[in-house]
Amino acid sequence: MPASDAHAQPPRSPSGYLSSEPAGSRETGFALAAVLVSTALFGVAVWFARTPLAPFPAFIPIYVTALVICDLITAVLLVGKFRVLRSVALLVLAGGYFFTAAATTAYALIFPGLFAPAGLLGSGPQTSSALYMFWHTGFPLAVMAYAQCKAGPLRWPALARIERAPPWVGIVSMVVAVVGGVGLFTMFATSGQALLPVFLEGHRTTGVGKVFLVGIWLLSLGALVRLWLGKPHTVLDMWLHVVMCVWLFDIALAAVLNTGRYDLGWYVGRIYGLLAAGFLLIVLLSENARHYARLVQVSAELRSANDSLWQVSMKDGLTLLANRRSFDAHLAEQLAVAARQRRPLALVLADVDHFKGYNDAYGHQAGDDCLQAVAGALAACCQRPSDMAARYGGEEFALVLPDTDQQGALHIARAAQQAVSDLCIAHPGGSTGACVSISSGVAISQPGDGKDAQALIGEADKALYQAKNSGRNQVVMGAALG
Ligand code: GH3
Ligand code: MG
Ligand code: MG
Repeated sequence: MPASDAHAQPPRSPSGYLSSEPAGSRETGFALAAVLVSTALFGVAVWFARTPLAPFPAFIPIYVTALVICDLITAVLLVGKFRVLRSVALLVLAGGYFFTAAATTAYALIFPGLFAPAGLLGSGPQTSSALYMFWHTGFPLAVMAYAQCKAGPLRWPALARIERAPPWVGIVSMVVAVVGGVGLFTMFATSGQALLPVFLEGHRTTGVGKVFLVGIWLLSLGALVRLWLGKPHTVLDMWLHVVMCVWLFDIALAAVLNTGRYDLGWYVGRIYGLLAAGFLLIVLLSENARHYARLVQVSAELRSANDSLWQVSMKDGLTLLANRRSFDAHLAEQLAVAARQRRPLALVLADVDHFKGYNDAYGHQAGDDCLQAVAGALAACCQRPSDMAARYGGEEFALVLPDTDQQGALHIARAAQQAVSDLCIAHPGGSTGACVSISSGVAISQPGDGKDAQALIGEADKALYQAKNSGRNQVVMGAALG
């Protein structure tokens, strides 16, 4: 499929990826409600954003751990969707989430007092702020890139190549780009900290810091607007709008409108940050749960359809006895078992006498009814689990009787003949009496005689013709023919 076709519409999947399907009014309503509640809370929190609260140093490790876990799982789920849908837009978004997980990890490593009093990797007083800015710049850029990739043909050749390459190429490229980018910036923010502007003095944000933060906030707003312009919106887009709104509230409260670390704005903003990380994760996980439930249901339907298909393919449609295919398989299998266990096996071929005359007299529908009745009578003679009554073809039937010797086979064949006669289906044109009758030929496979299915069928057939030639309505033992 050309790249242009793949991106003209929101990615659609035959497997029903709801988060890639156009958002309906229900999803839009839920997303709008989430935005309204977040906005209302923001409206309240904004008045108290500068209220200092007690420093709670454990908050940061809890916060970054939760963020990293949420973002990583979200990235993995999005990568999974990319592998199925092959949409580079999804890979880019996965990259955005993987980036936030990586940047948050770097942020935790260098944050003063978390792993070392002044932070690891030789961080300085501005390093954590620089990483915060980096992290909050990268994600909105990834969202913009996602909206761009989703909207139209991939103009950047590298992305177009990734779309055509096997999925692992895209995934590895994304991981290398993110880890490399975050690693390089972390090196710069630690080793090159002398080059960094002063964002923070003590716990207070400086004027320069505020300018950078307002810039980041505006960039995030730009990402939200870009996403909004990228219509039609998928369910995923809808929740990404919510994420970006909450993300804007996070930066506004925790970095722009507050005074610095550990005031109310800072705490509430970080909680917004957690919500931003959690929204998409919840949507993707609930989608996964829905897919799993559907998979279980489809598997059950498939199993039952398979069973029905198997039944249909192995049964004769008219008489519901085993059909010829099933007969061939069963005879070959039972002959092999008989040879291994050194047991005899009997085959009876039965043919309705003067059946053409019956059809001519009563019509083919009555003929069908007659065949069904005869089939029922023959089936009733097969008592053991491995016995089989089959429709051999036309008005000919076969009984496969494993572990049955000559005497036993004659007994069953005669019982079948009697059972058909007991049906008393009137057949005035027959030469064997007033009722429908059958003639049968019997063949036995004895241990060590090396008869295969063809030989056995040939022998039974010969005996059946003998029965026909001898006046019909009788059983002839094949071995007796010599
Ligand atoms: P014989 O005693 O020598 O076996 O004579 P016959 O008339 O039974 O044998 P023949 O081979 O001449 O005719 C078999 C008839 O069985 C012809 C065919 O129309 C009929 N037949 C075969 N399959 C079906 C079926 O599914 N339904 C019906 N109604 N008739 C069938
Ligand atoms: Mg026949
Ligand atoms: Mg016949």
